[in-house]
Amino acid sequence: MQINLNDQNFEIKRIFCIGQNYVKHIAELKNKVPQEPVVFMKPLTSLVPAGGKAVLPKLDCNIHYETEIVALIGKRGRPESVSEAREYIAGITVGFDLTIRDLQTKLRSKGLPWEKTKAFDCSAPLGKFASVSPDYDLDNMVFSGSVNGNIVQQGNSADMIFDIPTLLIELGKYWELLPGDLLFTGTPEGVGSLTPGDSLCARSPNGEIFNWQTG
Ligand code: ZN
Repeated sequence: MQINLNDQNFEIKRIFCIGQNYVKHIAELKNKVPQEPVVFMKPLTSLVPAGGKAVLPKLDCNIHYETEIVALIGKRGRPESVSEAREYIAGITVGFDLTIRDLQTKLRSKGLPWEKTKAFDCSAPLGKFASVSPDYDLDNMVFSGSVNGNIVQQGNSADMIFDIPTLLIELGKYWELLPGDLLFTGTPEGVGSLTPGDSLCARSPNGEIFNWQTG
């Protein structure tokens, strides 16, 4: 999948995701506040562009929506300061980190990897990116998610435990960031179940609305 932003083309490279980045969401899942960012990845086959259909796994399971701000990385390197890290952010949008919650809880309780529950096909519906300027206010990004026309999650990046520059500095310790990398930044409270046939909608910080159908 390619992203075109201000006449620049980005081939999506990797999808980094952050778990447990909002205190109230951690509380609703009865988890502990992490001391450092919880990082996992999704494959490119997780992505569903705005307007597309997210075909859910044909399993008897509880699939949750998680509405999240997503950042597009536009620069190669390893940022070491907040001001440096800000320069890596080329665009911002919203997306969903779909999660098989019951299986995730089971795997986590055994200390096992949770890939099956986070990285399945169509698990990452993604909106269209809007470019951000270097002075863009990353600490007051308001966003929301809706299911079948009802707003189910409302978030503000001000409530993130680790803000986006901090996350990029942390990721850079392990991976050289590449233009085209994506970062899902974690979900606020209000996660809940999805069933095939539900319509999903997300509102990005700049007010754009994106829709997907599940199947
Ligand atoms: Zn998530």
